[in-house]
Amino acid sequence: MQEFDFDDLHPDTLAIRAGTTRSEFGEHSDAMYLTSSFCVGSAEEASLKFTNQIPGFIYSRFTNPTVSAFEARLAALEGGERAIATASGMAAILALGMAHLKAGDHVVASSGLFGATIQLFNAYFMKFGVEVSYASPTDPAAWQAAAKPNTRLFFLETPSNPLTDVADIAAIADIAHANGALLAVDNCFCTPILQQPLKLGADLVVHSATKYLDGQGRVLGGAVVGSKELIEPVYLFLRTAGPSLSPFNAWVILKGMETLPIRMRAHCENALKLAQWLESRPEIERVYYPGLPSHPQHALAQKQQHGGGGIVSFEVKGGREAAWALVDRVQLLSRTANLGDVRSTITHPASTTHGRVSPEARAAAGIREGLIRISVGLENIDDLIADLARGLA
Ligand SMILES: *Cc1c(COP(=O)(O)O)cnc(C)c1O
Repeated sequence: MQEFDFDDLHPDTLAIRAGTTRSEFGEHSDAMYLTSSFCVGSAEEASLKFTNQIPGFIYSRFTNPTVSAFEARLAALEGGERAIATASGMAAILALGMAHLKAGDHVVASSGLFGATIQLFNAYFMKFGVEVSYASPTDPAAWQAAAKPNTRLFFLETPSNPLTDVADIAAIADIAHANGALLAVDNCFCTPILQQPLKLGADLVVHSATKYLDGQGRVLGGAVVGSKELIEPVYLFLRTAGPSLSPFNAWVILKGMETLPIRMRAHCENALKLAQWLESRPEIERVYYPGLPSHPQHALAQKQQHGGGGIVSFEVKGGREAAWALVDRVQLLSRTANLGDVRSTITHPASTTHGRVSPEARAAAGIREGLIRISVGLENIDDLIADLARGLA
């Protein structure tokens, strides 16, 4: 049972303490409940639990104590009433759509979304009669212009992947509500440590827990966070359809979250130093990092976020050839598309994360051939700079 009232505690404390429940053994660190189902004491108890008349665990597709602990910890950090865990970040976005959209509805989505999210909207949501239009994350007026009488959802990612465009969450939330729509924010890049969209007016937050929440590149996971009313239909979809989080993955992510606040501060510090160094290099055309004064939404990022985050993107002079040469020459940075890891990673978005997106959609999203994305990890910054200097030489 939870022993404290968590309302007045700081994020550093919530990341370690919120959601912890103890069994009769009094284990100090969260136990892992690797079980697919749960026993009951009587036929009557089974009936009461299955019909929701009494609370309790039934089957791990519905709920599991380790998964519930992760959900409670994330909800506390985001300032939401309830979180629901999913098998991955994409499963969270799918579950959100299945719960809150129907054929004939319209979605306004940011033009700077994660590649698989665009693919999910265009190849699948549209197949089931949901219409999707795109608006620039940096132009709130474009969201108003894109809204229609049947608009049900605004979907936003900020900072965007990979260009780190910063969207004004409060302004876009107001426009969503004025049009009778919900605003969902993918908070994967900032995590609740750097940004709390619900407090800025968003209705729902989605996460890829695969990234910073785990933080060590081990498991996949995701979540949707919001009010009890908006999360219940997401839970009912998961319970029925099954893209639920495994208790093992929930336990790994729970352990990762204990160091989330301290890791996020360190990611921000390293990323800012790297962005400043890149900006001073003649081989680099342009650096995208919200913590730099040269970033077009620097002032907004300073107001809305507690730090620039751990993702730095930049354009090397010389297009794809120069970008691929850099990717091939680094020795320390990992050549992988994953992000949010303690290990720094380097990616060429145009040919990987956004490789399945059509060239027109890619151009519209501003993903150019010379673009490189770095997820800045927690290695010593001088070693990272030396590796990139070698790559650029
Ligand atoms: C990785 C990512 C996702 C998808 O998450 P998975 O856990 O890989 O399914 C969604 N949004 C953003 C911003 C991401 O970086």
